Amino acid sequence: MACPTCSHTMHGLGHDIFWCPRCGTLRTGPDATTPYLVERARRFERECVQLQPADRRLWHSLGIGDSIGPVA
Ligand SMILES: [Zn+2]
Repeated sequence: MACPTCSHTMHGLGHDIFWCPRCGTLRTGPDATTPYLVERARRFERECVQLQPADRRLWHSLGIGDSIGPVA
């Protein structure tokens, strides 16, 4: 099952509960809970539009952009 936050493969924990090791999203049935850290990282990326190119490269090389999924 793909994570609704970052599209990574989720791990089944039993009892219809799934967990994403990349971003920490929990899914139970149709409901998913996005971690607060993901929401805060998305907000950081939205509000730091003036990041220098080197900072942007670091952001992506650390996998943060992949882990938080698309920023709305
Ligand atoms: Zn995920």
